[in-house]
Amino acid sequence: MVFKRAVWALQYIRSMTIDFRSDTVTRPSPAMMEVVKNARVGDDVFGEDPSINDLEAFTADMFGMESAVFCPSGTMTNQIAIKCHTQPAEEVICERQSHIYQYEGGGIAYNSGCQVKLIEGNRGRITAEQVTAAINPDDIHKAKSTLVSLENTANRGGGSCYEMDDIRKIRKVCDDNRLNLHLDGARLFNAIVAKKQQPKDFGSLFDSISICLSKGLGAPVGSVLLGKKDFIKKARRFRKVMGGGMRQSGIIGAAGLYALQHNIDRLAIDHEHARQIAEALSKKSFIKDIFPVETNIIIFSVTPVYAAKRLVAELKKHEILAIAIAENQVRIVTHLDITTDMVRTTCEVIREL
Ligand SMILES: *Cc1c(COP(=O)(O)O)cnc(C)c1O
Repeated sequence: MVFKRAVWALQYIRSMTIDFRSDTVTRPSPAMMEVVKNARVGDDVFGEDPSINDLEAFTADMFGMESAVFCPSGTMTNQIAIKCHTQPAEEVICERQSHIYQYEGGGIAYNSGCQVKLIEGNRGRITAEQVTAAINPDDIHKAKSTLVSLENTANRGGGSCYEMDDIRKIRKVCDDNRLNLHLDGARLFNAIVAKKQQPKDFGSLFDSISICLSKGLGAPVGSVLLGKKDFIKKARRFRKVMGGGMRQSGIIGAAGLYALQHNIDRLAIDHEHARQIAEALSKKSFIKDIFPVETNIIIFSVTPVYAAKRLVAELKKHEILAIAIAENQVRIVTHLDITTDMVRTTCEVIREL
């Protein structure tokens, strides 16, 4: 009883903090937990979990793609996709700051035995011309270029979004050069909402797409990899190899389906919140510059007066959490556990800094 009360108190205290560190910190809502409680489950390694089968079918249909597989994380969906698209000693083309290269523990080398050709993009986005220039010639000295990977929205680009036309041009380059095209869509729904696009626009242009349910959509765990039937069949094999085959995973899959059915349109609120915070920041003299805020991520740099770590520490005194992502750079991410009141409080604190 005492223990229970302590846990409750701890949660209460934690809920007082305004946590902008990432959109991964969201906790399942009571409505989501109700769905979880009633989820029908089975053994998903046998293909018998009805909640997972529903989730995979729903997602594939949403994107107009043939098939889908549920995985424990976005790192795993990306890594499986790269593994399925490549052979060892081949080359993956991606942006310098992309998650698959920077934040997946060297997985491209470890899992796929591939090397990477990095492109310096514009806030995380690359162009068809850059892709063309990055493709290796058919020369035995050179690694064979086989895969291009894009990130939308681009995390280190401050949640920047691709224009559909620019993706179409990259698709054409891939077709002309027999390259596959993968999308790290950890925050694809933020782009879809911000740009008023349709999931099927993306489904028709990419060979594979990874989406995260555990970011802005607010599910506790999980990502979905989408692609052609044969591709997903192969992906299931590698998911098992990587230890990602789960049993009654419908418990978390049901939360993921709930998130897709209820939490997409509301991302617009997160975008508006981010815009308001960026506006408050823009008036401060210690801010050097702010990346244009397109979705739910604000990346800004501070003048030497205020090292990033010091600013983060200052905010923490007011129970506002952000992350210093570089010596002089701070990242703030809005999400569904951030209320309009919290945004107002944050803007007031910023004004007083
Ligand atoms: C979060 C994220 C992923 C996947 O991360 P996991 O924590 O493994 O689910 C992939 N790409 C980007 C851009 C991300 O932000």
